[in-house]
Amino acid sequence: MRLCDLAPAHIRAISPYQPGKPISELAREMGLDEASIVKLASNENPLGVGEKTREAMQRALADIARYPDGNGFELKDALCRRYGVALDQIVLGNGSNDVLEMVAGAFLGPEREAVFAQHAFAVYPLATQAAGARIANPNNPTGTFIPGPELEAFLARVPADVLVVLDEAYTEYLGPDQRYDAIAWIARFPNLLVSRTFSKAYGLAGLRVGYGLGNPAVIDLLNRVRQPFNVCSVGLAAAAAALFDDDFLARSYAANAAGMAQLTQGFQSLGLDWIPSAGNFVTFKVGDGAAVNAALLAQGVIVRPIAGYGMPEWLRVSIGLESENARFLEVLPDCLV
Ligand SMILES: *Cc1c(COP(=O)(O)O)cnc(C)c1O
Repeated sequence: MRLCDLAPAHIRAISPYQPGKPISELAREMGLDEASIVKLASNENPLGVGEKTREAMQRALADIARYPDGNGFELKDALCRRYGVALDQIVLGNGSNDVLEMVAGAFLGPEREAVFAQHAFAVYPLATQAAGARIANPNNPTGTFIPGPELEAFLARVPADVLVVLDEAYTEYLGPDQRYDAIAWIARFPNLLVSRTFSKAYGLAGLRVGYGLGNPAVIDLLNRVRQPFNVCSVGLAAAAAALFDDDFLARSYAANAAGMAQLTQGFQSLGLDWIPSAGNFVTFKVGDGAAVNAALLAQGVIVRPIAGYGMPEWLRVSIGLESENARFLEVLPDCLV
């Protein structure tokens, strides 16, 4: 027996998640200076981390020899104050991917089914490959967005014995006229689980902190499959501080709106199609995505090929700093084939 045969067939059938290429890797491969590389591939916050959050992380370092609070009380308490939810409506995750994994672990199995949209986030099929409908709003990699009233009408029609996971990883980037309050729906729809993250607008992708909000019975099940110390102490402290740094969030939102305008104007002047996006990234059409991606990499610009999503003619670029967006737009015309 070969070692790989020890794993069940459904595990062997999984194709691994393809992350954005790290800056250090491209530097090694191309012999480039890391400082000359622009990474616009993973929807990270180009402004970095807010000052208050950085200070909270530094304070947490003093206690790093201790295990984190496995219940995450400080962060849950901050979420209760921020969103008016109760402690037993919150589950914390090592990134919101972890919350999605917990949903799969708690609710899915060989006899169960999960439903998600075409071109939906790669983690859904990864986490499931096995009952719940999942929607990302806005979706990644397309950036498409379902308005609140349509979602609410959908929820009203889904049977009560189907769990709906609403992935709101990019909700902080929605414009004032697009915002809706899914947390308020939890009381009416006990089968709704909302997942959110600190990886995007809060700038904490490297720390891995996310959370799920839902009915206490659902949360209780998720906690049963959760690893006891799934969120690290620095992450817990940083996220609790980040949640109230409204100034940083407002700056991130404004920088993203400006960068989105900059990139889409660039696409327009190059005659390229793009999908209007409600996130911090935009997907644009180049024809041969693999070739254009390779040419961009050779110029030290990392974007995201999305052939794995069935969109080989498209690339996804994250909104960066003004200078990073400019660099991307500067090299792009020569990379088009
Ligand atoms: C980035 C992203 C997440 C967040 O993942 P984390 O594990 O919280 O870093 C979740 N859902 C979608 C659709 C995303 O694009």
